[in-house]
Amino acid sequence: MGNLREGVYISDLRGNVLDANPAFLEMIGVGSLDDLKNITAYDLFVDPKQRERELELLAREGAVREFEFQIKRPDGRILTVLDTCSAIRDPAGDTIYHGILVDISDRKQSEERISHTASLLSTTLDSTADGILVVNNAGRTQTYNRKFLEMWRIPPEIAESHDDNLMLQHVLSQLRDPDGFLRRVRELYASPEAEAFDEIEFKDGRVFERYSAPQRLGGRPVGRVWSFRDVTERKTAELRLVHDAFHDGLTNLPNRALFMDLLGRSIGRARRRGDYNFALLFLDMDRFKVVNDSLGHLIGDQLLVAIARRLERCVRPGDTVARLGGDEFTILLDDIIDAGDATRVADRIQRELNLPFTISGQEVFTSASIGIALSATGYERPEELLRDADIAMYRAKAMGKARYEVFDLEMHARAVSQLQLETDLRHAIERDEFRVLYQPMISLDSGRIEGFEALVRWYHPTRGLVTPEEFVPIAEETGLILPIGRMVLREVCRQLAEWHQTFPSPLPLSVAVNLSAKQFRQPDLVDQVAHLLEVSEVSPVALRLEITESVIIDDAEGAVKMLARLRRLGVKLHLDDFGTGYSSLSYLHRFDMDALKIDRSFIAAMGDRGQNTEIVRAIISLARNLDMDVIAEGVERPEQLAILRSLGCEKVQGFLFSQPLAARDAAQLLREQPSF
Ligand code: C2E
Ligand code: CA
Ligand code: CA
Repeated sequence: MGNLREGVYISDLRGNVLDANPAFLEMIGVGSLDDLKNITAYDLFVDPKQRERELELLAREGAVREFEFQIKRPDGRILTVLDTCSAIRDPAGDTIYHGILVDISDRKQSEERISHTASLLSTTLDSTADGILVVNNAGRTQTYNRKFLEMWRIPPEIAESHDDNLMLQHVLSQLRDPDGFLRRVRELYASPEAEAFDEIEFKDGRVFERYSAPQRLGGRPVGRVWSFRDVTERKTAELRLVHDAFHDGLTNLPNRALFMDLLGRSIGRARRRGDYNFALLFLDMDRFKVVNDSLGHLIGDQLLVAIARRLERCVRPGDTVARLGGDEFTILLDDIIDAGDATRVADRIQRELNLPFTISGQEVFTSASIGIALSATGYERPEELLRDADIAMYRAKAMGKARYEVFDLEMHARAVSQLQLETDLRHAIERDEFRVLYQPMISLDSGRIEGFEALVRWYHPTRGLVTPEEFVPIAEETGLILPIGRMVLREVCRQLAEWHQTFPSPLPLSVAVNLSAKQFRQPDLVDQVAHLLEVSEVSPVALRLEITESVIIDDAEGAVKMLARLRRLGVKLHLDDFGTGYSSLSYLHRFDMDALKIDRSFIAAMGDRGQNTEIVRAIISLARNLDMDVIAEGVERPEQLAILRSLGCEKVQGFLFSQPLAARDAAQLLREQPSF
């Protein structure tokens, strides 16, 4: 008993230690048995009451009992001991206690540490947003957290069954690719050291991130921890971002970026495979602005959506309909045999779009102009195809809208030269390449020049003379017509001032200046004209402005107001090219004009057949009824003049009298004509 590590003791009922081995003495921290005489067992216990209760229990029930208690050593150290104690009778018949003490302080501490860690672990497990499952190397479930059950929607009866197979079936039944999931799991069990990270897609659209790592004990993998995180929201947000970046918000069609990308792929395929052909259709709605302006943007937007849906119906599943923006759509026809396939689709689209749309209970009509570019032309870049389809679309517009045109090389040449012209036009103003010519208007009554029409000319450094027919439409489209028009007006005012000095007359010589649509719609047009007249000190009555019928008809309300303001200024107004526009003679009275200019096409056709003379006659009598002057343009032959005279036309203009002349030559004419 002397070399035992356990402390062995015998005590009486009051707790006095009667005998003990050295291990006991050492454990409780006293030197000898004698030292124990002075202390009772009660002095030793941290909680003497506990010791008392336990001994009473022991005395009552007999038997051997284990008590765990703490003792306080004289040096202050506290020990946790396990006392295996039994009550026995000594030879005298008294009850004494016999006990064996084991110091379990160390074990106690590590136990506490473990349970602390365990509780910490389970709290963390249950408070994490991840679902966690721990399995052993054989794949059997060891533990999981609440979140795991929630995320995988595992019903209590399955969880409580502890049937791994049932749980797995439940998991697999929710997945989009259960086989892939299983394959991955098996791979990981085959390599216990591996870590893995991937995504799991659910049939109902949820997405989990799955992370798997070995669970180690003493460095060796003993199982595997699977953790799952629900990333559905993040994924949907990501997908939406990607979708939005490549789709048009209104129609949900692919946008320009996506379309160009697809086009690029098709170009690549066409280059690799000689037998692969595709076509690009470029659609622009005709007069879409009118819909927006008259019915409002809301209806306009709804119409665009309805158009998108119809276009989708006109193509095959492999084709792509995209919206480039505004009222522009593009279609990629994939894998076609020849141009005929493309034009057939264009025909079908035109037929479909011709049917009325019903938007918010209103019938809306629309049509599209379509340009077609074919892959057979051999393109390198998507932009080139788009550009050519666009050129063809413009051609379709120019040819009368609601039709299609297939891009060809002649179109290309024309486009290139237009583009060049546009560039040159930008420089022409600063390089002072424009000149104003003057074509006389003759009064048949007096035979005298009653005024001139100013006609602009562009002397291009290499091309030579460029007529306004060629460059005015481009200038109009690019807005360059505004600076050009201002230049013409300024020059004309300067010239008028000079001529009024040189050729004074009671009725001052007049010059008519042409205004294009853009010029006429400038809000500050009246101020511009007023200012130029003022600085050149020219009377407003000497200036005439020529505006074509079509310019006025596009915006009748605005035109009526603008015309009134110009008239108040004192300038006179000519309605140009009369008869070529919409020719609605009925509303002519609404536009307060001073003179009508009969378009030269009517004059040219006159004389051959009586009918055309009738038109001119009608126009002249109409003008007279409205108290307007009439000027016949493009008079080239004496017989035309004779007819005009007989119809009572007062003023004429044309090559028969004079070509448009440089200012100096025009002045010469003025000098030569008979004075009053
Ligand atoms: P317009 O206003 O109808 O001008 C009359 C056109 O008829 C002029 O052509 C003139 O040279 C031409 N012409 C005159 N007499 C005859 C004839 O007997 N026979 C034939 N076949 N033609 C004749 P031009 O100068 O080429 O101008 C064409 C158009 O360009 C003008 O048509 C006008 O709309 C526009 N334009 C000319 N100058 C200007 C300008 O300074 N500003 C604006 N905005 N447009 C202008
Ligand atoms: Ca004119
Ligand atoms: Ca004209």
